Amino acid sequence: MKTRAAMDGNEWVLNGSKLYITSGEYAGVFVVWAVTDPDAPKGKGISCFLVESGTPGLVIGKAEKKMGQAGSVTNEVVFQDCRIPASALMGKLNDGFRIAVGELAGGRIGIAALALGVARAAMDAAKAYVKERQQFGKAIADMQGIQWMIADRETELEAARLLILQAAWLKEHGKPFVREASMAKLFASEAAQKATYTALQMHGGAGYIRDYPLERYARDARITTIYEGTSEIQRLIIAREVMKAV
Ligand SMILES: Cc1cc2nc3c(=O)[nH]c(=O)nc-3n(C[C@H](O)[C@H](O)[C@H](O)COP(=O)(O)OP(=O)(O)OC[C@H]3O[C@@H](n4cnc5c(N)ncnc54)[C@H](O)[C@@H]3O)c2cc1C
Repeated sequence: MKTRAAMDGNEWVLNGSKLYITSGEYAGVFVVWAVTDPDAPKGKGISCFLVESGTPGLVIGKAEKKMGQAGSVTNEVVFQDCRIPASALMGKLNDGFRIAVGELAGGRIGIAALALGVARAAMDAAKAYVKERQQFGKAIADMQGIQWMIADRETELEAARLLILQAAWLKEHGKPFVREASMAKLFASEAAQKATYTALQMHGGAGYIRDYPLERYARDARITTIYEGTSEIQRLIIAREVMKAV
């Protein structure tokens, strides 16, 4: 992390930038993490701030052109000598890393649910299509190759649903949920890749055509193994949490 917050009189001065902020141009207030003690050990010198949009020195960059999720805008956010009051500190000084870990884990349940929703839409469209589409004198739903696709993807999506519900239940009941949130996010987002591509395949050529929603589902699902922590980072978290208990 390179964004810095330095005290000057009774104000914090923010300098730095962050790429790829969802809804950046629509946000009314930003939750910003910045280094407040560069000499502290890793993770111990970061603090969290609330910055209102329109604050001088807070610059919102252009909307990125993305592969999918066209309904959601993504911007760079830049801080150029952006001055905020001392009271803008959220929580305790240098306690930002702990806040981030808790907040990101909650967000992962949301992204897992998003991935599952896109995958469900794709598979529901595919199931309806294969019942109707006839080849070799019968509906393609009656062919074993198609049935196995349905069986495998539906099993994975059901497992994803249960992992998501478990993580959400733990969070709602104030219990530790970091490991379960990462498991749900990893499994659901990877299952969504397979499900959206399988659903597209079940449509044959129609799956590739924009009159059908399948190519969009595949593009929209693609980001879910990347944002809110990549699948590789989820695996690091899961392994760390699992090994803590050994
Ligand atoms: C559309 C979109 C919306 C976003 N919205 C937000 C937002 O609202 N707020 C926000 O803060 N961020 C947001 N992001 C940023 C997003 O969370 C990051 O892009 C994502 O976490 C990956 O980080 P990175 O791009 O720096 O990839 P990198 O960290 O450069 O990773 C590149 C590759 O290296 C792998 N890698 C990195 N470190 C390790 C490791 N230790 N072990 C193994 N593999 C590793 C990654 O898994 C990946 O495959 C958004 C991004 C996009 C594209």
